[in-house]
Amino acid sequence: MSSQVNHAGSGDSADIFEVRNATKAYSSGMLKKSVTLAADNVTWRITGARPTITAVAGESGSGKTTLSLMLTGQVKPDAGQIFYRGEDIATMPRERRKLMRREVQPIYQDPFSAYNPFYKVDHVLQMPVRHYGLARTKKEAEFIIHEALETVGLRPAETLGRFPHQLSGGQRQRLMVARAVLCKPKLILADEPVSMVDASLRATILTSLRRLNQELGISIVYITHDLTTAYQIAEDIAIMYAGSIVEAGPVDQVIRDPKHPYTQLLIASIPLPDKSKRWGGAVKDEASIAAAKRTTTGCRFAPRCPAAMDKCWSQKPPFYQTDPQRKAACFLFEDGARKV
Ligand code: SF4
Repeated sequence: MSSQVNHAGSGDSADIFEVRNATKAYSSGMLKKSVTLAADNVTWRITGARPTITAVAGESGSGKTTLSLMLTGQVKPDAGQIFYRGEDIATMPRERRKLMRREVQPIYQDPFSAYNPFYKVDHVLQMPVRHYGLARTKKEAEFIIHEALETVGLRPAETLGRFPHQLSGGQRQRLMVARAVLCKPKLILADEPVSMVDASLRATILTSLRRLNQELGISIVYITHDLTTAYQIAEDIAIMYAGSIVEAGPVDQVIRDPKHPYTQLLIASIPLPDKSKRWGGAVKDEASIAAAKRTTTGCRFAPRCPAAMDKCWSQKPPFYQTDPQRKAACFLFEDGARKV
């Protein structure tokens, strides 16, 4: 496994990000409060040693978006720390935080939400130029905006001067990528960037993300519920379940030979011939229905796990090194695997 999915936190400033034991809970309900753990003691690193593409995959509610929002500082962990280039973002001085905001650019699922319908799309590109002082003159600003648009395959003459509704969904999404590129980022956090576009545009957007990685040296964190696109674009993958990373390693190994029972369930459910079937929607027998009603203080996956053992219900599994480059949080690997 390449070094970006490394669960042994070191605080190394060569890392772009280090997430150390981050926990975040949300509560809901007026009278009877229920608490959801969106991040459960997550430890994770994204190396800065070389530009990488890492997928974070899981079902909706697995905590992947909370992890991404913690990286950008939009969500503060209740416990644990997030380091950007070795510096705790909770105590980072204002100027350093501004630099981090420029260097870490998010791209969201719904590009339309990023636009103000009353402004021409030029506004969305001019704002970061002004905010981060990216150009000294108007001419220079124009040049870098054109350059960013061309990098993502958009023609400036056909894009600028228009209102958001005059562009297609694919153009709006590529414009968001152009906006990110403009900021000369070190890392792009792409949260479900292709889930709202059709198959041909999906390929175009994934290709432009790959080009940004290979040609401009930008690291990408690709957050998705879709293992197929994760497999197409990423070199490493972290699988999340109920706020925890349960398996991490090279995407090829994880997808072809999943170790964690949850990853196995995910892989078994793709491709989805029946579109109404969701991930994890495997046929349940009576024993698994009874297990699903049990509560667990141990492994969060125990109620759905076909391999659950007694200890799984009361103890949280640590990470075990199942292969030289891969780790899985599961007691099945207790014997013969190195605990990490
Ligand atoms: Fe299943 Fe136990 Fe492994 Fe959890 S720790 S995934 S319940 S076998």
